[in-house]
Amino acid sequence: MKKVDSFTAFEKIRSDPNNAGRTFSVSKDIFDHFSEKLRQSTREIGAKEASEIEDLIGADPGKGAGTTRDATCEKCNTAFSLSDHVASALLAGKHTAPEMASFFQGNDYWLTVDTKEKRETICPHCYRRGVIIHCCYIFSRYAYA
Ligand SMILES: [Zn+2]
Repeated sequence: MKKVDSFTAFEKIRSDPNNAGRTFSVSKDIFDHFSEKLRQSTREIGAKEASEIEDLIGADPGKGAGTTRDATCEKCNTAFSLSDHVASALLAGKHTAPEMASFFQGNDYWLTVDTKEKRETICPHCYRRGVIIHCCYIFSRYAYA
């Protein structure tokens, strides 16, 4: 996928409703611009949760990873931690562990176009299928805008 390296191009992508929830490779400048705003609402994870995530995907989630807004399982009412989000993405088959590791450790920066749409997931606490809000976390090389 071609890297988006102009603000004008990314704003155009962002304003197209067809791109809601889609993830794009972007330049560091664009990533920094949008992720900076999210940093103000980020609840960063601690060492314990970082090692839980490392156990799940085989990669350290890196600096600055955390949740940016609440997401709760509609079936058992558990509020998702960042490692819950990672576990549910794996359970639901949305991403493989190496894919997720590449989001944190590769050389690329990624932004998902923010959306109010819900997404399907599997809760890592009750293992039931449900829906959850879309964009609610940030990593050193992954955020939403
Ligand atoms: Zn649940």
